[in-house]
Amino acid sequence: MLFRTNFHTHSNYCDGKASLREMVDFAVAHGFTALGFSGHCPLPFENTFSITDYEGYCNEVRALKEEYKGRIDISLGLEIDYIPGMLEDFTPLIERGGLEYTIGSVHLIPPQGVVPKDGNDLWMIDGSRYETYDEGLMKHYGGDIRSGVRAYFHQQNEMLVRNRPTIVGHPDKIAMHNRSRYFKEDESWYEELALETLSLIHELDLICEVNTRGIYKGRHPDFYPSRRLLKAMKQWRIPVLVGTDAHAPDDLLRTEGAFEYLASIDYPTILSSYQRR
Ligand SMILES: [Zn+2]
Ligand SMILES: [Zn+2]
Repeated sequence: MLFRTNFHTHSNYCDGKASLREMVDFAVAHGFTALGFSGHCPLPFENTFSITDYEGYCNEVRALKEEYKGRIDISLGLEIDYIPGMLEDFTPLIERGGLEYTIGSVHLIPPQGVVPKDGNDLWMIDGSRYETYDEGLMKHYGGDIRSGVRAYFHQQNEMLVRNRPTIVGHPDKIAMHNRSRYFKEDESWYEELALETLSLIHELDLICEVNTRGIYKGRHPDFYPSRRLLKAMKQWRIPVLVGTDAHAPDDLLRTEGAFEYLASIDYPTILSSYQRR
């Protein structure tokens, strides 16, 4: 019998390609025992990826949870963006939605010292085009990659301390659109910043995801956090949860060898499962 779980799941309430029900039906058909939804949180400016009907999303996940009881354990979560000066406190969203868990993520970075008014004031480090990353780096950080990367990790640290999300989302996603052009991930200044964040995850006793999306989308050859960082994380025994960051039903299966890799390095604390028993 299969025991599979996934807690990083999107739907067409945000930028996903399928309805909540389609995601659930696919999961049930493929032997998942638990499925957590984590749509992109509503944001106070126009954009193409976040939830606009927040009540509708929460209500429908709750209704499906009831309907599928005994077949699959559905939980209501949200992938919340931490944006200094714009979205700093997760509590109102947690309370309004009655959330069962949160994934804390950084995708949007304001320039230092700027209180962002809308998306034009933010460096978007995610998305499908690396050109957006390059343009934002130039516009908001004058092309200074070290300042931009430092701002990313510091913003993430601030989020962890202030909000203690249930799961830390893709902690080194800043490396994705870099494509080894501006920096190499083994440069000491970069590694120091990444390890500072990981040691904070440990101090705060949080769970970190192992996000596989970069690999199956062909955007990045590694997990987030990278294999290199996962090896360093072993010393702290940070609990990890493999998440596919699914935006379509098929994505739910794309674990991309994460469990096998974690087993190969004897990673000590793996919370999710994806195996035959
Ligand atoms: Zn994300
Ligand atoms: Zn996501």
